[in-house]
Amino acid sequence: MQLQENAPLAPLTTFRLGGPARYFVEANSAAEVQQAVAFAESKSLPLFVLGGGSNLVVSDSGWPGLVLKVSIPGIDRRSAEEDGKVVFDVGGGESWDRFVSHAVMAHCAGVECLSGIPGSVGGTPVQNVGAYGQEVSQTIASVEVFDRKDSQVRELRREACGFSYRSSIFNTSERGRFIILRVAYALTPGGEAHLEYADLKRHFEGREARPNLAETREAVRYIRARKGMLIVPGDPDCQSAGSFFKNPVLSEPQHEDLNKRAAAKGFSVPSYPALEKSRKISAAWLVEKSGFARGYGFGHVGISSKHALAIVNRGGATAAEVLALKDQIQQRVEEIWAVRLEPEPVMVGF
Ligand SMILES: Cc1cc2nc3c(=O)[nH]c(=O)nc-3n(C[C@H](O)[C@H](O)[C@H](O)COP(=O)(O)OP(=O)(O)OC[C@H]3O[C@@H](n4cnc5c(N)ncnc54)[C@H](O)[C@@H]3O)c2cc1C
Repeated sequence: MQLQENAPLAPLTTFRLGGPARYFVEANSAAEVQQAVAFAESKSLPLFVLGGGSNLVVSDSGWPGLVLKVSIPGIDRRSAEEDGKVVFDVGGGESWDRFVSHAVMAHCAGVECLSGIPGSVGGTPVQNVGAYGQEVSQTIASVEVFDRKDSQVRELRREACGFSYRSSIFNTSERGRFIILRVAYALTPGGEAHLEYADLKRHFEGREARPNLAETREAVRYIRARKGMLIVPGDPDCQSAGSFFKNPVLSEPQHEDLNKRAAAKGFSVPSYPALEKSRKISAAWLVEKSGFARGYGFGHVGISSKHALAIVNRGGATAAEVLALKDQIQQRVEEIWAVRLEPEPVMVGF
């Protein structure tokens, strides 16, 4: 185990800000994960598990304990199961987008719309990563975890993971308990691309032949790049944690109230059906219609010039500045629309 002290965390995150880790270690196997956990416990250090650092705001003082970066590699294809799926067992430390590319090249459908999302494979079950009409919960068969409760490695079937919109047991009821070692995705060999999302349909409008998986992947990456939602070196709009706020899910009465407020201003609110008589509202719309246009802010921190939902580090930003802008947006949105926006990124060391 190669232990580092006072290791800078900012370069390990897409936001590129925040302080150092008191201790830092990288684990390439389940055994190394176990060793690192034992070290943290022996010294009573708080433990933070790091993946690709693409969904984090690290505080300016950093992390006072051990940061354990999961770097377990490997993409293994298992033979087809009875229901005709192909299962890929993927190490938690693999790049998510590399795995998507691998699956698409193998003509296996199920994750093509999740192309271009940064971060690690191990990070995907945590907030049930989703985009362009797909979520990983639709294809995850099981998750192999190290259980900190009894130091055992175990397999959690999909049903045990409690997946819903941007949520799972890993970021709610069992937060901090499981370290994700490997994820098994069941994909459809020879399956068609999922083309339900409006942006994607528009992209292929007028085309007769149905786009294949590779074309769909390229289209998703193209659309994401135009929104600053693809990490493109040198693009200042992608020094962020992606969407900073979740799309709020409102009950019917809340939705009616929002519609009334919008109608009084001559607007109609974009919304989508969600589970159990509720509606999902576009957080980007609420942010923009509260006076925070794309490109807002002139200092170190602002809003992406390509997407109202991304707070960006324009260079030299501090976590305190990011949180100040977050508070400002939350307050204004709540004052005008009576809706509380919830941040999506994980706050580390606050
Ligand atoms: C430009 C951009 C675009 C994005 N677009 C999307 C999008 O379209 N859809 C979407 O859902 N998200 C999106 N995100 C957010 C982010 O990429 C995903 O949430 C990603 O899955 C986070 O994975 P990560 O490995 O970077 O996790 P990290 O940011 O390192 O960690 C996030 C959380 O997961 C935990 N974690 C990470 N790895 C493990 C592990 N092995 N075991 C246990 N816990 C772990 C961490 O402790 C932390 O709580 C975007 C981010 C950026 C910067």
